[in-house]
Amino acid sequence: MIKTILKYFYVHGLALYSRWQLSRAESQLLILMYHRVLPKDDPRARLEEPGMMVTPRTLAMHIDQLRRSGYTIVKLGDWLKAYQSGNPPKGTCVALTFDDGWLDNYQYAFPILRSKQAPFTLFAVSDILGKAAPFWPNQILKLLRSSNAQALLSQPLFTQLNLSEGNASPIDNELLAELISKLKLFPDEHIHQTLAPFQEQLDSAEPDIINQQQMQEMLDSGLMELGCHTASHCRMHSDLSEQQLHKELIESKRSLEQQFAIPIELFCYPNGDITPAAKALASEHYLAAVSTENGSNCSSEPLPLHHLKRIALHDDMSKSAALFHAKLSTRL
Ligand SMILES: [Zn+2]
Repeated sequence: MIKTILKYFYVHGLALYSRWQLSRAESQLLILMYHRVLPKDDPRARLEEPGMMVTPRTLAMHIDQLRRSGYTIVKLGDWLKAYQSGNPPKGTCVALTFDDGWLDNYQYAFPILRSKQAPFTLFAVSDILGKAAPFWPNQILKLLRSSNAQALLSQPLFTQLNLSEGNASPIDNELLAELISKLKLFPDEHIHQTLAPFQEQLDSAEPDIINQQQMQEMLDSGLMELGCHTASHCRMHSDLSEQQLHKELIESKRSLEQQFAIPIELFCYPNGDITPAAKALASEHYLAAVSTENGSNCSSEPLPLHHLKRIALHDDMSKSAALFHAKLSTRL
């Protein structure tokens, strides 16, 4: 009870502080990071990691709150170009970014963004448009929610993880978050090898990712800016060869440019993993790149254009106006 009361005052205090601080900012850019936008009762919500979703209602509330607070919603590239020309927009500007190109972004986020005329940036993975999601956290979740759960957990990669509750089944959200964070210490290839025997089950007939036509429709609205999120959603690590880096950062950019006949100027590092080689390549070929590092970007300091900070948003941390504003303080 006392904890709940303290939390209430902490969140509301932080929300007030955030609004006061941002209302007097001379020139500040907040980049919000979203992944999936799904109603709670959508069956796909069961197959997603905790902390990757907002509901359509929460997204709409965020946009209304931003505007009500006097912040300007901008396209990320527009703000950055103004900054580069030495004339960054005054006050607090907010760029909405969506990672991965989930079909639910087209189905649920786009109608809201269009009705509210809110610009946004979508970071697409060039080789997976219109396909089933190839992301291993989702694949693992699909398997753990199926009759193959024990077969998967008995694979050597999983038995060595020493999960706090052992290999419990059914697996709860807390254990799942622990499992995924521990697996992130392994290279993607290693995890995909472990999942290979289950591939038949994983190859879903239903696409999870926006297709070319849907992407074009969003571009035609004039509200969407398209950025690149690699070719295969490969996380950057020091073992990647020069050829792999080229494929993930440069060929992916060219592929999107050819498919949509537009310049692609923004890059997003999968999982926020950044290596010096990837950053150097991004600096050479892109106007800017975003990370998953929590924070805001203040134009009075030289901005690390290829390591911009973002604020991650998901329902648990932002479903009320107070929680959302507290999150914007970057202290939650
Ligand atoms: Zn991603």
